[in-house]
Amino acid sequence: MVSFEEARNVILSSVSATGVERIHLLDAAGRVLAEDMAAPWDMPSWDNSAMDGYAVNSADCGAAPCKLRVSAFLPAGAKAEGVRVEPGCAVRIMTGAPTPEGCDAVVPVEETDNGDHEVTLREPATKGQHIRFRGEDVQAGATFARAGSVIRPPEVNMLAGFGMALVPVHRRPTVAILSTGDELVELGRTPGPGEIINSNTLSLATAVREAGAIPLIIGIARDTRASHLEKLQEGLKADVLITSAGVSAGDRDLVRDILEELGARQVFWKVGIKPGGPTAFALHGATPVFSLPGNPVSTMITFEEFVRPALLKMQGHRRILRPFFKVVLREELRKKPGKVQIIRIRLERENERWYASSAGNQQTAILKTMVDAEAIAVLPAESTRFAAGDEVDAHFYGNHIDLLEATP
Ligand code: AMP
Ligand code: MG
Repeated sequence: MVSFEEARNVILSSVSATGVERIHLLDAAGRVLAEDMAAPWDMPSWDNSAMDGYAVNSADCGAAPCKLRVSAFLPAGAKAEGVRVEPGCAVRIMTGAPTPEGCDAVVPVEETDNGDHEVTLREPATKGQHIRFRGEDVQAGATFARAGSVIRPPEVNMLAGFGMALVPVHRRPTVAILSTGDELVELGRTPGPGEIINSNTLSLATAVREAGAIPLIIGIARDTRASHLEKLQEGLKADVLITSAGVSAGDRDLVRDILEELGARQVFWKVGIKPGGPTAFALHGATPVFSLPGNPVSTMITFEEFVRPALLKMQGHRRILRPFFKVVLREELRKKPGKVQIIRIRLERENERWYASSAGNQQTAILKTMVDAEAIAVLPAESTRFAAGDEVDAHFYGNHIDLLEATP
């Protein structure tokens, strides 16, 4: 048995980033930049006005009120060539328009009488005021977004501003999903006696998609060698293979045996984590193969803790583990020593601390508790007892924008 931490480390050191593809900016949201992006030009490209108002020479208007002749007009989009702020003059200017020669300050229209041919400034102007200087945002050649950054609206805005229609991102890995077991029927069929619906495939596909990868549904391998051979072979064509069930101690171990027969090298089987202990990890060439236990709660938790970080790393993410934060336990918790225990929790914010209460019955077979969980508390392997009021590490399960918004 490997520890939770060893399992995660060996998985993460076994996977590497996928290749690079160039895609249109509008399709790039949520993808990860594969290269540092350097500014092709200064942003902004020329000194320009930050306000609607009057371009002036501050030496002319050190004292207020001050009257100037309005000699020209520069709307947004106008060129400043040939326009000059002569002594005793001002140029009417709009936000974003280039500042003309001789101008070293902009006086906002609100501080004037808004005159057309003559303008009176009510406030003195100081050198540099309300001018956006060339390159003050980003200078030509500077890195404005780093490899590993997720592309969000701000990245899109800046990439677009630099005229970059195609952006280099890591390819989304394909992830084959294979459920195993004679008891399974596909969604849409009514299960007969002893049968259950293959819900894991759909849940895994959803989780894969949420992690940014492409799920490929392989279907069900029946509990025979022939069926496993055929389906596993098909699954091994993807960038990643996930299998569900058939790896517990009580099973006939078909998944692991036949993976080995197909040339996969088992890296570990059994992890010090509960739920999720029977998890196996193998490499077929460079293809990672995750064999997750079939119990839906175990399947989801082992995906969350082991597969999701691997998929994020493959897509080039810088942050691949959800950040831990401290939660205060509402209730006492006891566990056996030797394994990390995952507790499904709900959160409340009080006095600037997060308080955790159990999301329900913690038995592995209780799926509803998973539905009700907002976060996951990770209890260290060696500990056995936690009192109410103790602090433990937790991370969100899913993207709880609702909870974050509730944070005072
Ligand atoms: P196993 O890992 O084969 O011992 O399965 C553990 C439990 O998970 C059993 O109750 C199975 O019926 C259930 N199970 C296995 N595969 C699936 C699946 N694809 N969808 C939902 N439940 C499953
Ligand atoms: Mg089974």
